Amino acid sequence: MNTSKIRPYLFILLVFAIPLLLIPLIKMAKSDSQLLQKPPVEQNVERLQGSYAIIIHGGSGNFTADDLSETEKLNYKKALFEALETGKSLLASGREASFVVEQVLKMLENNPLFNAGKGAVLTHEGHAELDASIMRGKDRNAGAVAGVRTIRNPISAARMVMDSSVHVLLSGRGAEAFSQAMNLEQVDNSYFITNKSQKRLKAVVDKHGTVGCAVLDTEGNLAAGTSTGGMNNKRWGRIGDSPIIGAGTWADNQTCAISATGWGEYFIRLGVAHEISALMRYKEISLTEAANQVIHKQLEELGGYGGIIGVDAFGNVSAVFNTTGMYRAYCDAQGNQQIKMFSN
Ligand code: ASP
Repeated sequence: MNTSKIRPYLFILLVFAIPLLLIPLIKMAKSDSQLLQKPPVEQNVERLQGSYAIIIHGGSGNFTADDLSETEKLNYKKALFEALETGKSLLASGREASFVVEQVLKMLENNPLFNAGKGAVLTHEGHAELDASIMRGKDRNAGAVAGVRTIRNPISAARMVMDSSVHVLLSGRGAEAFSQAMNLEQVDNSYFITNKSQKRLKAVVDKHGTVGCAVLDTEGNLAAGTSTGGMNNKRWGRIGDSPIIGAGTWADNQTCAISATGWGEYFIRLGVAHEISALMRYKEISLTEAANQVIHKQLEELGGYGGIIGVDAFGNVSAVFNTTGMYRAYCDAQGNQQIKMFSN
């Protein structure tokens, strides 16, 4: 065959047809990368470079202004304010999201006002058995401990599980042995027990005061953590949602960071924290819209109560709950700051 005859056709094929064939492939590759890098929802608000956001909760419940004395109100406000200011100054100095979550929650665990660390509610047998978890949105690594009795700051043990082990959730005596190997401070169980927690156990009155924190750091990374004594008078090694990744705690840089509080069994059954993130991802709705759907529709339909705090990748914060009260404090990426306790 005379190749000189077909050369012009080959040339035309190379110049026009091959690029035409490539167009759909280029389009596919582009839409894939768009999908992967798609900015999270709340499209209309740009995150200011170097801005940060933080939101904290100290538990939810059906309490109103009449249930708290003026001194109690002041004490809660003071504790939330101090934790918020600590978190803000760490974030402003460029500290990483999960480190900030740990430091803020340690402060709240050390404060007997809350149902976490010192002051936690007691089991039926009169012990403190603590649960905590933490998650980082950048690599979706997570760590948690459940049913621990001697670790002074369970949130630090959760962070160690995340950063210094291949596991996500350690429980009971094993978690305590791990935390000893990590040189975390150990205490006698009596350290956690207060006169108030003993009285509460006898009266079988539940205490609200699980603590949680969600942050966006100046690098644009999200993290969340939760710490609790669980439910007053709990038995049989009951574990709630707080140490369950996806139920009580979740963080994903593509969507949001969440910490939950409330009747844990319902939060586990609904996978509350992950469900909010999934709604944002797949329905492309905002953090507040997603949280409203989960708390005010799904949770209420099952008969559960409680709420969440969260922050999205732009530094928008949200606190959504179906109880009359939730101790909470925040500072968003725009610098709006508030401390609140009741539903209004
Ligand atoms: N969610 C916690 C639990 O069920 C309790 C609470 O947040 O009040 O263990």
